Amino acid sequence: MNFSDFDFTHDVMDGLSSMGFEKCTPVQEFAIPVILEGKDLIACAQTGTGKTAAYLLPILNNISREGHTGMHTLIIAPTRELVLQIDQQIEGFSYFTGASSLAVYGGGVGAAFDQQKSALVQGADIIVATPGRLLSHINMKYSDFSTIQTLILDEADRMLDMGFFDDIMRIIGELPGERQTLLFSATMPPKIRQMAGMILKNPEQINIAISKPAENIIQAAYMVYEGQKVQLVRELLKGKTDYKSVLIFTSRKANVNGLVRELRRMGFSADGMLSDLEQKEREEVMLRFRNRETQILVATDIVSRGIDIDSIDLVMNYDVPRDPEDYVHRIGRTARASQSGVAITLISDNDMHDFRKIEELIERDIIKIPLPSGIGIGPEYNPSIRRKMAPRSSGGGARGGERRAPAKKDFRHRDRGNHQGHKKAGE
Ligand code: AMP
Repeated sequence: MNFSDFDFTHDVMDGLSSMGFEKCTPVQEFAIPVILEGKDLIACAQTGTGKTAAYLLPILNNISREGHTGMHTLIIAPTRELVLQIDQQIEGFSYFTGASSLAVYGGGVGAAFDQQKSALVQGADIIVATPGRLLSHINMKYSDFSTIQTLILDEADRMLDMGFFDDIMRIIGELPGERQTLLFSATMPPKIRQMAGMILKNPEQINIAISKPAENIIQAAYMVYEGQKVQLVRELLKGKTDYKSVLIFTSRKANVNGLVRELRRMGFSADGMLSDLEQKEREEVMLRFRNRETQILVATDIVSRGIDIDSIDLVMNYDVPRDPEDYVHRIGRTARASQSGVAITLISDNDMHDFRKIEELIERDIIKIPLPSGIGIGPEYNPSIRRKMAPRSSGGGARGGERRAPAKKDFRHRDRGNHQGHKKAGE
């Protein structure tokens, strides 16, 4: 489908051709008509699917038709980087519509806050903001959101992982009840569905889930007891000159620092990436890893989607992600840009059932390699054994202790974008 098939204004079409966009991506094909009809939408789509243009184009079209009526759209996104990316896309598309936008994000010096403040007082057609900083402005009561017609939550799952639920709900409390709400999320865990149930009205649903890892990723797993894991990591990494960039994921935030310490003690150069780090520290850690000054980066799922590096040789899952889609996200960090890569998962006796769910999602059995000699005997793979219900996280980790609630039934499904034909558990 081409963009010319939509009834976009000339100004929007001119913006599209100046950006060189002609054909729609699947998320655009399905989302744009829904948004143009004024309906609420819940869209499961990752970065790279064209999701940003999918919501920006119909919004810019509305602004271009209706003229400037005060703040029209509020976009909330988890990080400064994403806010800036969205703002740049708005600039590109809106050149001919004359729509104005304002990026509101944390960090920077006090002058930045004041600049944002005066821009908020003046108003703009589209505000793109991180939740925390926007709430700081809202608390000072100089911005008027009564004209907002559309609210967009981008990477909603990541915002909840980062603990922004309360901030988002407080921001929504400032917006008119009569509005269009669009929720974009790379994954659809129960907590996202719960939030959607609270803030969306009769949403259409689109699922562009990329549920299969790329073919050029070599996937393998080891059955291992918790107490054997550190030693196994050492065995797998020592003397492996091919593994210049290694990303190790752990679901437990509390594991990150301990693992980094162990790796350094073993003589590897390693850093940890936690959501708790200041923006500047995160950027420094990422820069060192990107420049290959650090060989190993240990991270939680929260940062997995923000790690935009093409040349990771090995992704190791120090534990099994509880949400099978996270497995696909995690290992998708390797073998990018047509290179090949390796993904190794350590499966403890408590994680076997969750690992089976991953194998079902990706529709293949992953080879279980015997433990190297000297580590001892690991558990047998028996996925019928369920996880013990003890909380997984002692440090308030990202997914620790999360219970899976049954999916809400009140969505009107429009699951036509799922090219893998995959239906998620609970749907
Ligand atoms: P996103 O998933 O929104 O982060 O988009 C990923 C990239 O794809 C961005 O660089 C967009 O500019 C680009 N893109 C999105 N939609 C299209 C399209 N229909 N044609 C060409 N490029 C696109």
